[in-house]
Amino acid sequence: SELPEHLQETIQRRDKVLGPGYTLIYKEPVEFVSGHGAHLIDRDGNDYLDAYNNVPCVGHAHPHVAEAVARQMTAVNTNTRYAQEALVDYAERLLATFPEELSKLSIACSGSEANDLAVRVARFHTGGEGIIVTRWAYHGLTREVASFSPTLGAGSPLGPNVRFIDAPDPRLVAPGSTLAEHMRQQVRGAIDDLERHGYRLAALITDCAYSSDGIFTDPVGYMQAVVAEVHTAGGVYIADEVQSGFARLGESMWGFTRHGVVPDIVTMGKPMGNGIPISGVVFRPEVSEEFGRNVRYFNTFGGSSIPVAAGAAVLDVLEKENVQQRVLTSGDALRAGLREITKDSPYVAEVRGAGLFVGVEIVKDRGTLEPDRALTDDVINDMRDRRILISGTGPSANTLKIRPPLAFDSADVTRFLETFAEVAKNRL
Ligand code: PMP
Repeated sequence: SELPEHLQETIQRRDKVLGPGYTLIYKEPVEFVSGHGAHLIDRDGNDYLDAYNNVPCVGHAHPHVAEAVARQMTAVNTNTRYAQEALVDYAERLLATFPEELSKLSIACSGSEANDLAVRVARFHTGGEGIIVTRWAYHGLTREVASFSPTLGAGSPLGPNVRFIDAPDPRLVAPGSTLAEHMRQQVRGAIDDLERHGYRLAALITDCAYSSDGIFTDPVGYMQAVVAEVHTAGGVYIADEVQSGFARLGESMWGFTRHGVVPDIVTMGKPMGNGIPISGVVFRPEVSEEFGRNVRYFNTFGGSSIPVAAGAAVLDVLEKENVQQRVLTSGDALRAGLREITKDSPYVAEVRGAGLFVGVEIVKDRGTLEPDRALTDDVINDMRDRRILISGTGPSANTLKIRPPLAFDSADVTRFLETFAEVAKNRL
């Protein structure tokens, strides 16, 4: 290996203390010591372009967030059992980004916790237990959430109360049908099968970017029929915005808005604190009220002063730096450039996505769409060797996942496309 000695040593020590469940990204792993914007710097001072990390949404080590957290660290950290004006201010600001029907907030620390709470509330409210997710969904790591996260592997059991539907890939729609009809039928079939096995529906939960399924953001407009079917069966719709939220998809703060539906519950996490653990669940009050009256919800760190300071600082930056507009501009330029570079490639089936969430599907043959995971891995590692970070996703891990910090600006887009063109010339 050409890895620097210190990195080899770190990896050897790492293998000793962390179990085999911890995997490193890239054939030649990387270690970073600092960052700014969409850039990461290694120990030798090399600048990498980060086109993968969504947690530092307003940019690595953003000074406004760092200052807000540092100030709060040196003042006080109290939990939600004390009145905190800053928490109320934050809740009001965050809820103002939602349709008015969604008016109650709970704060937790991770996306998994948020989804765990969302499903508990859904079960309580509906009296049902059935859960519907997409075929290659990931929603988190608690036992409950793992039971409907099929990507976790053969060792992680799925619940008998869980049913799977296609991700909204327009290529799966039968001739003469529509995506709305296809998705509605998928959900109807799942509900019927649950009922045959004695399960009433609690919730349909979908990632609004269908990230682990391979990134399917378009076309929009099929969700109304799907949500209507869920409501007819007495269930609720939970929009998992852990990936798609906070302006990632460009056109709006939340992914569900693009579909013209108002979910019953929305969960969010990852970018919410730009790295400080904070996640949220937003409810229609009629869905969460009885649960709140009957079940105590206290989360030691969730909603305490420091994560809330981080969350508020992220909202400041999203507003002040007009991030959503940058996401639209950078995302459009990125997809247009990728389409241009790959338009004659026999190995690129599709460039898709919205805002700064972009997928490039890599296949053995454009006609058969047979996945080519090995080629996808080669592209990812070639990009890494040229100091640009991306990864792969989808059931066959053959879709490049390009999901940079939202600080990704036009210079970053140019650098990305120039490098991608070099890699594509050799590989695609
Ligand atoms: N939902 C989705 C859509 C996710 O992508 C993830 C994390 N990859 C989670 C939930 C879980 O979030 P966390 O890792 O913060 O628990």
